[in-house]
Amino acid sequence: MASDQSPALSVNRDNDRHPGRCYTFDMKRANSRVVHAGTVTIGGGNPIVVQSMCATRTQDIEATVHQATMLHNAGAGLVRIAVDNVKDVEALAEVRGRVPEANLVVDLQENYRLVERVAPHVNKVRYNPGHLYHHEKEKSAKDKVAFIVEQAAKHDCALRIGVNCGSVDPAMAEKFDGADDPLLHGVSAMVESALQHCSYLDDLGFTRYVVSMKDSDPRKVIAGNERFAAARPDVPLHLGVTEAGMLPDGAIKTRIAFEQLLSRGIGDTLRVSLTLPFAEKFREVEVGKQIIEDVEAGRYRSVPKFIDSGLNIISCPSCSRVENEAFVDLAFKVREMSEFAKPYDITIAVMGCRVNGPGETDDADLGLWCGPAFVNLKRGPEEVGAFKYDEVLDRLKAELDTIIDRKKAAAPA
Ligand code: SF4
Repeated sequence: MASDQSPALSVNRDNDRHPGRCYTFDMKRANSRVVHAGTVTIGGGNPIVVQSMCATRTQDIEATVHQATMLHNAGAGLVRIAVDNVKDVEALAEVRGRVPEANLVVDLQENYRLVERVAPHVNKVRYNPGHLYHHEKEKSAKDKVAFIVEQAAKHDCALRIGVNCGSVDPAMAEKFDGADDPLLHGVSAMVESALQHCSYLDDLGFTRYVVSMKDSDPRKVIAGNERFAAARPDVPLHLGVTEAGMLPDGAIKTRIAFEQLLSRGIGDTLRVSLTLPFAEKFREVEVGKQIIEDVEAGRYRSVPKFIDSGLNIISCPSCSRVENEAFVDLAFKVREMSEFAKPYDITIAVMGCRVNGPGETDDADLGLWCGPAFVNLKRGPEEVGAFKYDEVLDRLKAELDTIIDRKKAAAPA
């Protein structure tokens, strides 16, 4: 039975006894409606569903099957797989056949028309409203959404409207530019974009959808989800802090956001995005479970200092779009190299690919995004250059030194 208000009820520990069963918790948000995706039920006061994502190259079928199975066995109720092209779709179809027990989700990027090919093989599809403008510019976003909805309905799929603060629809970003306090820059555009797309789906009579609003800054995740939940309590929410980075900081940033939202009954499903070696991807699910269990038991952590000051390293959790697996190693090396900069308020972003890397690094003081042979280095939105994997750390260190020298010079004597 769903509770009206209280999020703290009993825990479903079936997963402890049955590895591979979806790990869910009885933390309720009774007002949201029910959305079915494969064998999981999201929203409507049902237990929170923990999700995860394969970081393997989708066309590496053995590795993707292995990782999807690992995530499912760890308790991921939904396992996301990245698909960018027709070859990925063919690989997805094979993975689907070999991991029939997992509920699969695909994330559409710029090419929304791929939904037609992926929907037959998955239980849920995510689209990003901020990516719809890339193709068929003469066509309205609403018409593109109608196509996605048609395919989802035809193939028994749920949808996620997945808005990212870093890649919000440019028209919406322009409209709400300056609307937020600087610390929450972009939140209004993110929320309005989500609301706009909810109205598109509602107008089409499609209610089998959830919404996510993500950013690497937990404050924006909290603010966005709070505002949205107040405006549309009926729509199930998928929580996430993007590019949370490596452990332990990545888990802490995520926890900051999730504690505040879950404790208020906001959040029906969630994913923890961590940069992890492939063999340890299951830890995303474990961290998600742990946060939910702690909130449910009333165990909260204090907000760590780095959220407001000090060095902040954000790094993406990696996915099949990573073109050079040296990315994960690079993220760890960046953290090691920049240890000396801990006292300074500096953000370094390390992203795994050219799809989201260029945009998602704009707000960082220094950004790295990885290509097949080179790593692109940015100073804020400005490009510094492309460097070999074994050369980029030295250049990054030089940039970091320059920023620190400038900060020291500006500091009061
Ligand atoms: S930045 Fe690129 S590689 Fe990293 S998770 Fe996002 S899409 Fe995948």
